[in-house]
Amino acid sequence: MKIHEYQGKDILRQFGIPVPRGIPAFTVQEAVEAAQQLGGPVWVIKAQIHAGGRGKGGGVKVTKTLEGVKDLANRILGMQLVTHQTGAEGQKVRRLYIEEGADILKEYYVSLVTDRATQKVAFIASSEGGMDIEEVAHRTPEKIITELIDPLSGLGEAQARKIATAIGLPEGSQAQAVELFQNLYSCYMETDASLVEINPLNCDSQGKLIALDAKFNFDANALFRHPEIVAYRDLDEEDPAEIEASKFDLAYIQLDGNIGCLVNGAGLAMATMDTIKLFGGEPANFLDVGGGATAEKVTEAFKIMLKNPDVKAILVNIFGGIMRCDTIAEGVVTASRAVGLSVPLVVRMKGTNEDLGKKILADSGLPIISADTMADAATRVVAAAAAA
Ligand code: ADP
Ligand code: MG
Repeated sequence: MKIHEYQGKDILRQFGIPVPRGIPAFTVQEAVEAAQQLGGPVWVIKAQIHAGGRGKGGGVKVTKTLEGVKDLANRILGMQLVTHQTGAEGQKVRRLYIEEGADILKEYYVSLVTDRATQKVAFIASSEGGMDIEEVAHRTPEKIITELIDPLSGLGEAQARKIATAIGLPEGSQAQAVELFQNLYSCYMETDASLVEINPLNCDSQGKLIALDAKFNFDANALFRHPEIVAYRDLDEEDPAEIEASKFDLAYIQLDGNIGCLVNGAGLAMATMDTIKLFGGEPANFLDVGGGATAEKVTEAFKIMLKNPDVKAILVNIFGGIMRCDTIAEGVVTASRAVGLSVPLVVRMKGTNEDLGKKILADSGLPIISADTMADAATRVVAAAAAA
């Protein structure tokens, strides 16, 4: 789960990491009042969307007058902000963050992510923070350092100092950096984050470090123990189909293709998408109905897939283990009738009660295309989508 920058800064503040003073605003009026409350002389008007690259997209602006605050708030609020992370259609700006302007001497980069390969926490840092970090990673990767932290011992002072030295922080800022990095590590662990990124971490002309941006991603499987983080959720920033799916406990991710996929098990769902691509098709979604899918759940899954106007054919691929094929077949038939299925439907099922399941599909009188192997199913659904 992602959150906004201003919410992330609230969390950083709680962990003792310095951030500028700032106030969120939902209207132009609120933006001006926020600026008055903060006092000058410099304000930064920042679009709040769940995507990075806002500065380059025109979503972060500096001004020295209240008139400027009003103008910029007017311009940014409601704009369709396009960044390299939003896709071409952009994301509508519904919230602003009004922040005091910082005195920038040099921008650094720091982030923490889980490194699955080593089962450690990767502390990634660079002397070249700011809006071009992707360029730096591409052209001069040696300027980005990675320090692996053993979660059993945590981030000790020596390792924190090693990072501070590696990115060339001035001597006078090192003590603060060590404390800040250790606080950031605690923040990452205690909030069950899967990513915390501060870019830029500014070093001002006094040598003081301050976080000018905050990006968080939280492990969805740990949210049950963080109601305070769930409260930050902003549904406007999420895909409506994915929100709908989460209500029914369906794992659904919308994609760009035209073949809807309904599968049980995440691994089989991934394999199904791969097979579709191998046979020249493009999946319209990832959808795992889980182990205990009922007819109602399958119906909801169909409704969600069919809300996507790009879907030209659907592939149902089920491995019946604990889940029996006849239950799924009944679900598919009920769902097809309930939603008045209008696109070709290819069904492949294997496993427990497979024959009974196939008989239910055949007896239903619905124009369901049966397939035996994965290759067979993919070939048929790709052909059906191409013909539609
Ligand atoms: P994004 O990463 O989405 O572009 P940032 O919050 O990093 O957004 O802002 C972009 C740039 O704007 C920063 O790299 C920094 O140079 C500048 N900036 C952001 N906040 C402030 C601030 N409070 N004071 C001064 N400059 C800022
Ligand atoms: Mg940034």
